Amino acid sequence: MSNYQVLARKWRPQTFTDLVGQDHIAGTLVNAIRSGRVGHAYLFVGTRGIGKTTSARIFAKALNCEAMTAEGNPCLACQNCLEIGSGASMDVIEIDGASNNSVDDIRRIRDNVVYAPTRCRFKIYIIDEVHMLSTQAWNALLKTLEEPPAHVKFLFATTEAHKVLPTIISRCQRFDLKRISQKAISERLGDICKAEKVVVETAALNAVARAANGGMRDALSILDQLIAFRSGSASIGEADVLEVFGLTSQAELLQVLAAMLNSDAQELLFRLDRLSREAKNLDQLYSDLVGIARSLLIVACSPRNAAAILEVDGSEFELISRLAGQADAGVVQRLADGLLNHESKLKSALNKRATLELTLLRVMRDAQAVQLDEVLRRLARLRQSGSDPVLEAEVGAPQRQRIALDLPEAPAYPAAEQKKNLI
Ligand SMILES: [Zn+2]
Repeated sequence: MSNYQVLARKWRPQTFTDLVGQDHIAGTLVNAIRSGRVGHAYLFVGTRGIGKTTSARIFAKALNCEAMTAEGNPCLACQNCLEIGSGASMDVIEIDGASNNSVDDIRRIRDNVVYAPTRCRFKIYIIDEVHMLSTQAWNALLKTLEEPPAHVKFLFATTEAHKVLPTIISRCQRFDLKRISQKAISERLGDICKAEKVVVETAALNAVARAANGGMRDALSILDQLIAFRSGSASIGEADVLEVFGLTSQAELLQVLAAMLNSDAQELLFRLDRLSREAKNLDQLYSDLVGIARSLLIVACSPRNAAAILEVDGSEFELISRLAGQADAGVVQRLADGLLNHESKLKSALNKRATLELTLLRVMRDAQAVQLDEVLRRLARLRQSGSDPVLEAEVGAPQRQRIALDLPEAPAYPAAEQKKNLI
């Protein structure tokens, strides 16, 4: 057996520069060290796999590094950096809050903080999942947290800040980590693939980034699985990602939305039938549809800033813009609103396929329906002038152009290979 290390561990950021998508945090921490204004307790908040513990570890290294670089990064070469990096340092203590949450565990910390660090400048306690600590445990730590010895720093990480007592939060400097943009994840994955000498198409990297939903660790785990699945092949394409994870391609999702914008029930049901036959994960499909409807809405309402808001790859943005450019912004808004309102229905449904079809048909009809305020406006106009110019214009106008994406059609799924699990 080779000594294989998963990508998420192998490529865990070691310096603030490596930390993707969290520039606001890296900048503040570096400035704090440079200006000598380092607090004694920090709380890193954010969803899983976006770099909370990693930020804490880099900060711990930077605080104790003997030769910090000009950019404010730990040097990764001094003994302190090496020991902390390998988890061998006596002065940087990592504690899992989920399994060490009793009063006795915390008392042990409280009794140990008084001893000076053995080698480093600071003795640093990194406590993960800190919301799991019991109230009694926090009470045991409260006094120490307020006035710890000068050589002690506490770095807490949590996914659920609302479960941490306000008295604790007020004693910490709080940092909220952001979900990492799809574009940033995709670029980082591209760099890693290059270094690992694996050829992965950009569309495939985009699909992985989309599936990871803002988490770098999830993205790297998906990439790992993908490389294992396609080991030996020359390159990995978007179709591989979609097949392994039951995802739907961006183009197919846009075709579903185009059918809805055209109010074409026949086309919509045809598209859904195809996707269901390919045994796509229908919950994921729906949530992807919501995501793409949001993208359409942003492009339709704010074309100038849409690229910066969405942070998606250029080719994806071009496709979304093409559809949004042909659609009516009001209809797009009602479509996005309708999809969002019905999101929970599919999750609890027993027959997911039927629920998906009915929900999308209803959302499509509701989005296209003439709105009550518009009807009232027309009635008022009729009462005043005896005619409705909008209606007359509509009657005289040529039929509205059909919204089209002009994409090459993916080959239909071969009947013989249809998966059994259709729901
Ligand atoms: Zn160092």
